[in-house]
Order: sequence, then structure tokens, then C-alpha cells
Amino acid sequence: MDAKHVIELEKKYMMNTYARLPLVLERGEGMYVWDANGKRYLDMVAGIAVLSLGHSHPAFVSAVYEQASTLVHTSNLYYTAPQTILAERLISMSFPGKVFFANSGAEANEAAFKLARKSGRQKKGKRRKEEAPFVVISAYNSFHGRTLATLAATGQPEKQKMFEPMPEGFVSVEYNDTKALQDAVDERTCAVILEPIQGEGGVIVAEPGYLKAVRELCDREGLVFILDEVQTGIGRTGQEFAYKPYNVSPDVMTLAKGLGGGFPIGAMVVSEKLADTFAPGDHGTTFGGSPLACGAAIAVLTTIEEEGLVENARKQGEYLIERLSDINRKHDIISEIRGRGLMIGIKLKRQNAAAILADCLDSGVIINKTSDDVIRLLPPLIIKREQIDEFASIFESSITKTSD
Ligand SMILES: *Cc1c(COP(=O)(O)O)cnc(C)c1O
Repeated sequence: MDAKHVIELEKKYMMNTYARLPLVLERGEGMYVWDANGKRYLDMVAGIAVLSLGHSHPAFVSAVYEQASTLVHTSNLYYTAPQTILAERLISMSFPGKVFFANSGAEANEAAFKLARKSGRQKKGKRRKEEAPFVVISAYNSFHGRTLATLAATGQPEKQKMFEPMPEGFVSVEYNDTKALQDAVDERTCAVILEPIQGEGGVIVAEPGYLKAVRELCDREGLVFILDEVQTGIGRTGQEFAYKPYNVSPDVMTLAKGLGGGFPIGAMVVSEKLADTFAPGDHGTTFGGSPLACGAAIAVLTTIEEEGLVENARKQGEYLIERLSDINRKHDIISEIRGRGLMIGIKLKRQNAAAILADCLDSGVIINKTSDDVIRLLPPLIIKREQIDEFASIFESSITKTSD
């Protein structure tokens, strides 16, 4: 089908929920995708931090093929091996506890909110107030999903306005501000949810000491500390999980994007202390933890380990920042380079992210922007030095072309 026809059909038959770029993608391999006209693009976005192994990695393809021809779906009325293997892997990568599988990041966070509320309810009696604590505190500028509860937790009032009333029990405070968080805690509070690096908010990194202070606050106040690692998890930041270098461990960690390498899957990892909060009937999903989704995710984790991709993300991320800094020394268009590993935000001095993005696209490189002045890079974890050089030279020419 030609590109023009695809776009016509989309306009006619699909809901207008996305401001899409005028690009019809047809095929991918490794770091590259091809559009319907056969033009090749270097993919520096990876489907929003999803394609950990890049496009159609042979290990991913054969795992999906094998599992699809063996057992695709059973529901959770029965036991299946892949979900248990994946759960064990996730626990061995993170902290002692147990896992619940969902299908997306929003669903993983929904599960975390339900868990935090039940856990708060079970503490009833230890509290002065009759009412069980149920309020979740999140940060402004955060992103936790598009369902009603996750939207309520997403501290961006302009995204909520048209859908009010929001579900009760969510408040937001400034990110990286421990005092604001402490001041917001009262007897109704049950949990705190934070991203270790705010992704959609423009790649804002938690300051040293912040997560540790939040951990201490949660311990002191008896709150569930939820880390939303939906975007940062699974090697993206040059660590298995972004929280690791902060020397803290959450009570609950949510995962999704990079875990399935393109196959939809979400997960909630719960520490030992809270791992038995749910009982049968409390929570569930038809699709979550299917053999096919878990088979894909196992292949992703195995390949990340075999190919040393966490280390690669750290190393190539450093090189990418080096190249960006070189470019900025010559052209002085960037006010800040933020992020860790292969999750990088480029704050521009001018509001010209859209023009740079469009020019890069013309020149065969896909990048992303989170606002008019922040460009975001989230390439596959398999990226090599040559491809960073390829990106850097095109990016440099795009910024010179669009900066006069
Ligand atoms: C993308 C994202 C979500 C939502 O994930 P979906 O799979 O789109 O529901 C939640 N939290 C963070 C930090 C994200 O980046």
C-alpha cells in the first residue's frame, strides 16, 4: 500500500488521538527502519524506549516464533512456565519479592495503586483516623499513563482538564523537592510514586540524595514507595534499573516499555514486605503474563545479558553525550544535556525542536521531542559507535540549517 493511501485511510477510519509525523514505516532491521518509499532511517527513538534489541533481532524473532507455535495464550486460570521463569529473572535482577504481570505501563501502575491502597487499609487501626489511607503523592511534570487513575497521578493538570472529575486520592508536588513531599504527607497518604528520571517530562534526572530522602520519608511515615521504571528500566539508563546507583530500593517497581522488546507487557515488582498483599480475586488480567509475551521478554533479558547491552548503553551513552558536547562547543545551541545511558534530553536555547526533528527526518534520522525546546533520544540498546557518529553528523548539519 502506498504511503499516501495509508495516511488517507488513517484520517478517515482512525480516531484522531496522535499527532503523527508524515512517515509510514514498513520494515525494520537492527538500528534502521524503512518507510513505504524504501527510504532508510536511523532509529534514535526505538518506539519510545521499547525496542531494547532494535528491530527484529534474530533472538527476539525466533523466541516469538517458537513460543507462538507452541502456546500463545491460556489466561491465568492455569500455570504456565514462561511467566514463572520471567518473574524469577526480574526478581534476581532487582530485589527479593514477587511479580504481577500486566500488558502496559499504565496497567502496571494501576496495579501498584491498588496494592498501595490495600496495604494502607490493612494498617487501619494503627492510624488515628477511622478512614484508611488511600492518597498517592506523585510529582508535577510526571507521566504515569493515560487511564483515569494513572492520569490522575500524572502531575500535568492540562492533560486532566477535559476528563474531570479525576478519581479521588491523587496529589502532586514538585519533583526533586523533599520538603514539598514531606509537607504533602498526612494521615490519608498511602504511597509515593516517582520516576527516577522523568521521561515524558523532558528527561529530568532525580538529584543525588532525593530518592534516598524519599525512601527515608516513606519508611518514617509508613508509605509505599513506588518507582515507575516503565521508561527507565531494563538497561535503558546504563543500569539494569535506574534506581540502582542511588543506593535505595523501592517497595514497588513498575516496568513495561523495554521489557518486551516490542511485545506488549507490563510488570509490577513488589518487595518481600508487601509481596503477599493481594489475595486471589483482588487483581487480575486476561492477557497479562501470556506465554507469548513472557517468551518475548525472556529473550530480551537473555540477549541483553549475552550481548552486554546494559554496559553498552552506559558506554555508548557517554560517547553520545561527548559528541553532543563537541557539537555544542562549535554551535552553542544547547543549554543543557540531561539523562543517563541511552535516555538523553537535549535542552535547546531556542524553541526549534520541531524544525530540527523535521530536518533530521529528511536526512534519514528519527529523533523525538518532548516539548518545543527539548529533544529526546532513546535509541535501541544495541547502538554502536558508528551509528552515533552517523547520528551526530546529521544532527549537526540539521542544527546549523535550522538555527539561522
Ligand atoms: C510510557 C510510560 C507509562 C505508560 O505506559 P503505557 O504502556 O503507555 O501505558 C507510564 N510511566 C512512564 C514513566 C512511562 O514512560
